[in-house]
Amino acid sequence: MKFSKSLIHTYREAPADAEVISHNLLVRAGMIRKVTAGIYEYLPLGLKSLKKVENIIRNELNRAGCQEVLLPHLVPGELWKESDRWAKYGKELLRLSDRHGREYCFGPTHEETICDLVRHVVSSYKALPQNLYQIQTKFRDEIRPRFGLMRGREFLMKDGYSFHVDHEDLDREYKNMFATYKRIFERCGLTARAVDADTGAIGGKSSHEFMVIAQTGEDVVVYCSACDYAANLEKASCRTANVGAAQEISAVQEVHTPGLKTVDEVAAFLKIKPQQMIKTLVYKADQGFIVVCTAGDREVSEIKLQNIAKAEALRLATDEEVVSFTGVPVGFLGPVGLDACIRKTALGAQWWLVYDHSVKGIVEAATGANRADYHVVHVAVTRDLKLSEDNLVDVCNVIEGDPCPHCSSGQLKLTRGIEVGHIFKLGFRYSKPMKVTYLDNEGKEQPVVMGTYGIGVGRTMAASVEQNHDDKGIIWPRALAPFDVHLIQLDHTDAITQEAQKIYDALWGAGIEALWDDRDERAGVKFNDADLIGIPVQVIIGKRGLQKGTLEYKIRRTSQKGEAPLLGAVDIIAGLLNAAA
Ligand code: ATP
Ligand code: MG
Repeated sequence: MKFSKSLIHTYREAPADAEVISHNLLVRAGMIRKVTAGIYEYLPLGLKSLKKVENIIRNELNRAGCQEVLLPHLVPGELWKESDRWAKYGKELLRLSDRHGREYCFGPTHEETICDLVRHVVSSYKALPQNLYQIQTKFRDEIRPRFGLMRGREFLMKDGYSFHVDHEDLDREYKNMFATYKRIFERCGLTARAVDADTGAIGGKSSHEFMVIAQTGEDVVVYCSACDYAANLEKASCRTANVGAAQEISAVQEVHTPGLKTVDEVAAFLKIKPQQMIKTLVYKADQGFIVVCTAGDREVSEIKLQNIAKAEALRLATDEEVVSFTGVPVGFLGPVGLDACIRKTALGAQWWLVYDHSVKGIVEAATGANRADYHVVHVAVTRDLKLSEDNLVDVCNVIEGDPCPHCSSGQLKLTRGIEVGHIFKLGFRYSKPMKVTYLDNEGKEQPVVMGTYGIGVGRTMAASVEQNHDDKGIIWPRALAPFDVHLIQLDHTDAITQEAQKIYDALWGAGIEALWDDRDERAGVKFNDADLIGIPVQVIIGKRGLQKGTLEYKIRRTSQKGEAPLLGAVDIIAGLLNAAA
């Protein structure tokens, strides 16, 4: 491609809404363009990189025994009603109706559609297993579309689904997909880590997310300093604290703490550490109130709490709700004597009290006195609280330095990551309600066991930019680069144009894709654009070199420069490219 004839347009200024570097650089390099919030166009350069990601995915999945299909974007509402997601999915789902008033959704994922396909085509155990995938645009009306391609409303996803006679066969395929995903992200030049994940609303037993470690990631990844343990924050646990050693502790005593409500304020006033306080929070779940007590330095994970409560919805109770439920203003609640307060105010209201494991490790605690402007001290956890198997739960986020739950020596570390892929064991979540069955070898009808496997194609491309850039621009790994070589022509005499044409043709002839900057622009402009676009090898042809019969080259990643004779230059460039990959 000649630059002068291309649609490539670069920008000096970052787009106003760019919060992450991939968004900034992909727009400035003329690869993508925003149409409206969360909706982007891929321009010729961007599409080339996107297709490269797609083809790596396709190639590895085909090698692993998967088959590609292409399902419609529109999904009849009836299918989603069968799986009960029509009512449950909420506002992310784009719903529409046709001229006859029939309801559809624009698929944000395609479990229902693929189940409908398989239940019509597969009838016997002999036709199983199957692993089908597609690479297709999805629409999700995300509440906060942002970060360019990272969190779009319309985005390209690879979604795959597998169908099995039993759980053992699903386990085998899950391992196959796990290994395939590792290969896909390696081939994309990404350092990705598989982490144990929360299975969330979609349901199922086991799930891993593939995370690209990047400071700008939206997810928090927890990993062990010593062993392989890694999980996302929603799922991560730590070795639970041992019960504190028994000690003589004086009787519980009230302390006047006027206006002091937060853990930090009270701890400072009492001259103790926040982790010696018991924090008491009230949540409102669909079934009633849940009172959660944790060590003062811990944060409740609403996802863990929601899973423990098996609640459809959950939120922190409002200040007014807390007062009408307990009779105590927010900031002064505590587990000692709470029961009696609630009995007075909320007769008949359903409620539960749970303690996070962190409470177990406190020997002597301070906490709210269940009376405005008072706290209590000398709370002996084993003496004054009724901790039991039933009310002790893992409901807090782990923190840096917690002991690893898997090994004896490691400490947990926290870092940020971008979720590029996700694999799930779905089990019967869709096959039972949608009646996706097969006849076993005794002729009995059985539900199929399913797995589902997703990759964000555009998000993977953006994640690659997060990991591969410098202050001048993108540094594409060769596998994703829109071109292999950026040929920069510095002077515009006929002789140089002819020489550039010769090199350009020879490169393409050797299977090396070249972008030829033939514009009548200043050298500085061309070099800046080349660094911004980030093609792995730059080749420079100009007057000075031609006199000596040489060209110059620069490796984008290392900035290493050199000269090569015009004759035989293509072999040298091929060698540089292999080394630069
Ligand atoms: P997230 O937690 O980031 O919202 P998700 O759990 O909703 O992701 P899945 O339903 O598992 O995502 O979708 C599969 C893959 O599609 C994700 O791993 C991610 O790479 C990609 N993806 C999901 N949502 C978006 C989005 N809004 N924009 C771009 N890619 C996305
Ligand atoms: Mg999501």
